[in-house]
Amino acid sequence: MSDNVIALRNTQVSGVWVCAQCQAQWEKDITLPWGTTLRDHREVCPDCGCRTGSIKGEFIPEDPVWVCDCGNTLFYITQGGMFCPGCGGYWTDTRGAE
Ligand SMILES: [Zn+2]
Ligand SMILES: [Zn+2]
Repeated sequence: MSDNVIALRNTQVSGVWVCAQCQAQWEKDITLPWGTTLRDHREVCPDCGCRTGSIKGEFIPEDPVWVCDCGNTLFYITQGGMFCPGCGGYWTDTRGAE
């Protein structure tokens, strides 16, 4: 099996975690405890020590990704454009792509 595919019964998860307390982000491979869903699972933050790290994304594309000026790579896609939850900015055009 390709290792960038996560099967439903596979409890090995690799991804980026983000801390709700201090916004730290880190990459970690974990084995999800039996009976736990990825959505509910919390990791201990390596920065502040709180168990408030939740998975940021289950899959990370190998292709280059859009990076906001603030460094965020996850966006809300809306009718008005791409909203960045990191800085509150909107990307409504293809700045830098002329
Ligand atoms: Zn933290
Ligand atoms: Zn931003």
